[in-house]
Amino acid sequence: MSQSLWVGQPLWLPAKTTHQFPKLSGRHKTTVAIVGGGITAALTAHSFASAGIETVVLEAGAVARGSTAASSALILQEPDLELAQLADRYGLRSSQRIWQLGQQSVRDLTSLLRRLRIRCDLAGRSAIYYAADAEALERLRQEFQLRSRSGFAADWLGVRELRDTTGISGRGAIRTHGNAQLDPYSACVGVLRSAVAAGARVFEHSQVQRIEVQKHGVRITTPHGTIDSQGVVIATGYATRYFRPLAGRFRLYRTYVLATEPVSARQRAELGLSDVMVWDARRPYHYARWTHDRRLLLGGGDQLVRPGQKRQRQFERARTELRQYFEGVFPALADIPTEFAWEGLFAMTPDSLPYIGPHPRYPRHLFALGYGGNGISFSQLAARLLLEQWRGVKSRDHTLFAFDRTRRS
Ligand SMILES: Cc1cc2nc3c(=O)[nH]c(=O)nc-3n(C[C@H](O)[C@H](O)[C@H](O)COP(=O)(O)OP(=O)(O)OC[C@H]3O[C@@H](n4cnc5c(N)ncnc54)[C@H](O)[C@@H]3O)c2cc1C
Repeated sequence: MSQSLWVGQPLWLPAKTTHQFPKLSGRHKTTVAIVGGGITAALTAHSFASAGIETVVLEAGAVARGSTAASSALILQEPDLELAQLADRYGLRSSQRIWQLGQQSVRDLTSLLRRLRIRCDLAGRSAIYYAADAEALERLRQEFQLRSRSGFAADWLGVRELRDTTGISGRGAIRTHGNAQLDPYSACVGVLRSAVAAGARVFEHSQVQRIEVQKHGVRITTPHGTIDSQGVVIATGYATRYFRPLAGRFRLYRTYVLATEPVSARQRAELGLSDVMVWDARRPYHYARWTHDRRLLLGGGDQLVRPGQKRQRQFERARTELRQYFEGVFPALADIPTEFAWEGLFAMTPDSLPYIGPHPRYPRHLFALGYGGNGISFSQLAARLLLEQWRGVKSRDHTLFAFDRTRRS
């Protein structure tokens, strides 16, 4: 799979490319090498380097310019699957634990970014998950009850409260507090810089071409250098060509995002959306949030990647459909032009949870792959779980995200 991770013009990317980190050349040694330079690699590098472990990051292109640059960066506590859907699959206890880990990851990530003073427009937000029709309403009511019984605090919004808070004419909604939003490019670069301050070394334009497992570690080869390392973390988003035997575990989707021009106070009042993040209960889902500079960010409409598709043509069609969809939701949007539009790839696992941990086929490797639509919270979780695994700490939490997790019979 060598296609670009996104097309179009992501809002977050600075106009000029600034060279930030050197290219790997010559022979080096380290304790852990991390392949990838997105938010997962950044948080993992920071976690390992802060624990005093010698760490090297190897990015094929420039850091933070993969899926991370395309992200809408709604930092949600909730996985893509509802609690009830996860419970059908794994039982209620495991699903509750996955949800608790999601909540903890958002808390950990936001406190880390604040503690490191990373300027990434981080802001706490409530998330509103709404039903547009009667069928979704029934499902959401049951989901709300299950969440309440499980101790996950939330409010139920009726038709009027939903409209007053979001401007949306829907049937009902679940509102949760304690979520966040940010600029993913700045967050990623900021965390990488902090990892460097904690002792990590970062190399860009250093594509990993080969990883040989040796007696006491791995030898990693890039076009101009090699690294001998005790182990390697693969944080490339999904299983790249190099890990072809794992590819069947992922399905790749294209997802679409629009950002409007900055909106005036009058237009904002007409739209009716307050400072919350909203997403609908449809599949594929749609979501909206405000940016720091008063743009409305609108996304969703995911489509499965199939061979032979004309990507640019599909992008043009999907962005038009997305715009039409949201003009139906927010009629006042009709007068507000789109300024940025982009499409990004993401890898989805069958249960929408990432794979975090070892795989028996690949000794001395740890993986952090397969983040769905809300992957950034799980990147934070990966950074913590991988450090525990590296140190040999045993935890039931590791089994929830292991490659061999099994569906409840
Ligand atoms: C359009 C879109 C919207 C999204 N919205 C949200 C959202 O609202 N909230 C949320 O939480 N998540 C969202 N996501 C998902 C989230 O962005 C991802 O889960 C996250 O960015 C993944 O980060 P990563 O570091 O794992 O992968 P990436 O950012 O893709 O980084 C992987 C890196 O690995 C590098 N690489 C690959 N192969 C090699 C190699 N051989 N050698 C060296 N480097 C290599 C690539 O160049 C790339 O930079 C969205 C994703 C998309 C595409």
